[in-house]
Amino acid sequence: MSQEQPKKELSAIKGTRDILPEEARIWQIAEAQAKEIFTLYGYRELRAPIIEPTELFEKGTGASSDIVTKEMYTFTDKGGRSITLRPEYTPSVVRAIIEHRLDLQPLPLRFYYIGPMFRYDKPQKGRYRQFHQIDIEVFGEKDPAVDAEIVEMAHRLLKKLGVENVLTLVNSVGCKKCRPAYGEALRKAAQAVKEKLCPDCQRKADINPLRIFDCKVETCREAASTFPKITDYLCPDCRQHFQKFLEYLDFYGINYQVEPTLVRGLDYYTKTAFEIVTENLGAQNAVCGGGRYDDMVREFGGPDLCGIGFAMGVERLLSVARIEKPRDSFVYFAYMGEEGKKQSLATARLWRSKGIECLVEFKDRGLKAHFSRANKIGADWVLIIGQDELSKGKFQLKNMLDSKQYEGTSEELAELILKQGQKT
Ligand code: AMP
Repeated sequence: MSQEQPKKELSAIKGTRDILPEEARIWQIAEAQAKEIFTLYGYRELRAPIIEPTELFEKGTGASSDIVTKEMYTFTDKGGRSITLRPEYTPSVVRAIIEHRLDLQPLPLRFYYIGPMFRYDKPQKGRYRQFHQIDIEVFGEKDPAVDAEIVEMAHRLLKKLGVENVLTLVNSVGCKKCRPAYGEALRKAAQAVKEKLCPDCQRKADINPLRIFDCKVETCREAASTFPKITDYLCPDCRQHFQKFLEYLDFYGINYQVEPTLVRGLDYYTKTAFEIVTENLGAQNAVCGGGRYDDMVREFGGPDLCGIGFAMGVERLLSVARIEKPRDSFVYFAYMGEEGKKQSLATARLWRSKGIECLVEFKDRGLKAHFSRANKIGADWVLIIGQDELSKGKFQLKNMLDSKQYEGTSEELAELILKQGQKT
């Protein structure tokens, strides 16, 4: 076999990576747990396309957000349309609701989805260009109890996956009524320290000073910490919503901290914004982020339907989760000769229909070689089909874990495997 390294241009694209079978098993477990938990709260899966019209994100995610200004994978297709690989999921769900008039169904609507997102950001630990999100959205529920319920649901999932040392940061970013006054105060404060800000934030100081809070440059963060706090500008409705939200979090016993500079990197949030961080993650410490977006559906030309949701980064989640990979339990067929091979194929076919994992390999081997192969690939069982067994119509089955050997018909041995499998 050639030992040549693959050519560089055949490697995965920077910021993307393969999830190989060993790791994919862990993903499957995490995804299954997420689906199970979401279903317990009444969520149903909604699968939208990976590509969307570019304007969906320009309008939804927001023209001044970092995602839209710097991070989108956008291209022109053969029909001359501007297409974007989705950088986040919420605008796609909003589009689907309007397109299919899902708002006519009994409200509230609860959806979940797990899949890849794409952002052209600088790759580093915990930050990729193709990454995956576990996403949930609720539409048509104004009650702050739902804001707390989704946080509680996120915590349940994190706990189930063994994620520890989590803290929930919460804030209210106000609404159309209270944000203009706050925006004005913020603009004044940003203009006063404009020359201390990075070039990007100097631009933000003019167009959308709220976005300065997203900047990771230390001097900008320092400046932002002296800016007026949105929580001092909330209108009575937003203030009451926020208080109620916190009350329900207390009721659930969730460990949270009010963080007035938490505005999240998206333009559409109203009222509740939150992030779940864990100290086990390092610099990119947010494992989950979410918030309310009560105006987005209407701004897209749809009905007046409020929304709230969160997204969890699967890569980050799995880097702090503690998930045990279940043992693969399968039967290896140690057969001799063409007749033994055919008998193996027939038996494997029957056993698979009973739910037993079977592996028949097509390399001609002697019994000893079969056993060393079975050992190497970690088979729990070896079924021996040689001349003797064929003439008797009874086979030998060896349990590789305790070395016990059994004789029986195909039916008897299948039953034995299923019984023992259920015990472990
Ligand atoms: P956002 O959609 O920006 O609110 O992000 C929600 C969650 O997705 C974050 O808390 C992260 O866990 C994850 N996430 C966002 N961007 C990336 C990225 N570039 N690479 C990996 N995970 C990400």
